[in-house]
Amino acid sequence: MAVLCAGVSLLVAIAGPPSPVAATVPPRPREVVVLYSDRGPYVDATLEASLQTAPGGAHVVTENLDLSRLDDEDYARRLVGLLRRKYRDRDVDLVIPVLLPAIRFMARNGEAAFPGVPVVFCAVDAGRLKELDLPPSMAGVAGHLTGLPTIRAALELQPDTRRVVLVAGESPIDLYWRRRVREELRVLEPRLEVVVPAGLTMPEMLDFLRALVDRTIVFFLIYTEDGAGSLYSTDAIRLVVEASRVPVYAAYEPALGSGVLGGYMFSYERQARKAAEIALRVLRGTPPREIGVHELEGNAFMFDWRQLRRWNLPESRLPPGSEVRYRPPSAWDQYRREILGALAVVLLQAALVVGLLVQAGRRRRAELEAGRLRGDLAHLNRVSTLGELAASLAHELNQPLTAILSNVQAAQILLSRDSPDLEEIREILSDVASDDERAGQVIRRLRDLFTKGAGEKAPLDVNELIREVLRLLHNDVTLRGALLRADLGVGLPLVEGDRIQLQQVVLNLVVNGLDAIGDQPPGERNLTIRSSLERTKMRIDVADSGPGIPESDRERLFQPFFTTKRSGMGMGLAIARTIVEAHGGDLSVVTHPGAGALFRVTIPTTGAGAH
Ligand code: ADP
Repeated sequence: MAVLCAGVSLLVAIAGPPSPVAATVPPRPREVVVLYSDRGPYVDATLEASLQTAPGGAHVVTENLDLSRLDDEDYARRLVGLLRRKYRDRDVDLVIPVLLPAIRFMARNGEAAFPGVPVVFCAVDAGRLKELDLPPSMAGVAGHLTGLPTIRAALELQPDTRRVVLVAGESPIDLYWRRRVREELRVLEPRLEVVVPAGLTMPEMLDFLRALVDRTIVFFLIYTEDGAGSLYSTDAIRLVVEASRVPVYAAYEPALGSGVLGGYMFSYERQARKAAEIALRVLRGTPPREIGVHELEGNAFMFDWRQLRRWNLPESRLPPGSEVRYRPPSAWDQYRREILGALAVVLLQAALVVGLLVQAGRRRRAELEAGRLRGDLAHLNRVSTLGELAASLAHELNQPLTAILSNVQAAQILLSRDSPDLEEIREILSDVASDDERAGQVIRRLRDLFTKGAGEKAPLDVNELIREVLRLLHNDVTLRGALLRADLGVGLPLVEGDRIQLQQVVLNLVVNGLDAIGDQPPGERNLTIRSSLERTKMRIDVADSGPGIPESDRERLFQPFFTTKRSGMGMGLAIARTIVEAHGGDLSVVTHPGAGALFRVTIPTTGAGAH
């Protein structure tokens, strides 16, 4: 096939371009005439819209043949002459008659009115179409006008209905439908009484409807002429609905919206759409004879939401698949954009909240991890500080052990005597016990500081904590020739904290102080530790008479690894500050050059008094 196409285009190329006229003149719009039998239902908008895809588009004109008013031979003849005259100079491509009278007119007179023009009809009952002798120039679409499904649906919707009134006019077409539906409804008798008012004028019919009693429904069929010969069109349905004291059903789509409840509707819209499809085929060149009559199952259950409400009838009783029209738009229909906007904002917020929670979770995990690392580091620092103090700690431990030894020796000497002084030996033994206790305490304190600790907080007496540290350092202080003064406040409240970590802070500050005064002349090596209450905060000051801290170092002091000592690690103050901050407090330095250094710890108190 591709080879063939290539061959064709090659031939075109050799033959030269197509003639300029053929190439530039666009196809003219198709001329389509829609013939209505009477006023409405109008379907030319649907037809016109659908026919625009015809080559060159479509130009649609409409004619109202007024056939319900004048349907005799003479009128038909005059109409033919008029149409011929009117469309003589216009190249009509297609005629579309709508409803039976117009279709019948075209079946009989089409060739005379529009010679050689194809015809596509729509909106006709298939049964009635069979009465016509269709020429081969006519194709189209037919449906099924039926009353029974409407009344069956009405009985479901209003189960206590006992009577149905058929409303139809008195013209031949009206009588035809009245008869036919009357026949259809026989299957429902005797459960349902079918009332058929006949020969009435419209005012009489309306009076009749006004007098209807409960358990009755009205079925509006068709009303083109009343018993007095007055003509009616779409206005009839309005009059009937206004007069009726009971719900009015109908069986063709255009009636919906004028106050009828609904029914199994013959849809002109669907007929028109199908007719347009056929018309396009014809306009593109398919002869109508090849298409013939298409029977469309185009009816549908349709109801008016407002009327269902008015008569208080539940939608749940409608036949499955019913279309309910005139429902007020839901909040979703009306405010779709606003709702979507609000939803987007809510979703965004939710995403943000989730994001923040995830972040908070991550931060918490990071904090826990940082806390664990801080604990490890603090432990390391403690152990290394204690390592530095090893000599003096050994001495601290040695003292009670030496005392125990000499006391035991003294006791042995006493016991070797003939009459040992038991009282003296008892005293010696009691000294041994208290020295042992002292040694035990030293070991306990050291063990505490050497353990890692779980970082648990408890109410603490700060003074007791300071005393513990000073006891440990007692020997070191003496060895360095320092004068240590403890100025501890009375009745201070407790603080909430980790005992070992806070001891480490005090230990660091005091050891740094001892280091700082090391080069001072003896007698000027002073160290003061003070506890006091500053408003609601506990304050611990460690002051020394050392050289103080140069202005340039004051910021760097608390940075990790900043040290001026030969064997220093530079971690003590950094760790002390993180410990204090983890307790919600603050560690700062106050210094006057030449007046030594003062380190100040502040920690929130619990408010409870110390014992
Ligand atoms: P390290 O003691 O291992 O050096 P620290 O973090 O405890 O680590 O101290 C850091 C530095 O801060 C010390 O090296 C010293 O220079 C200075 N410093 C600390 N305390 C004092 C003090 N009381 N007086 C003077 N300088 C001090």
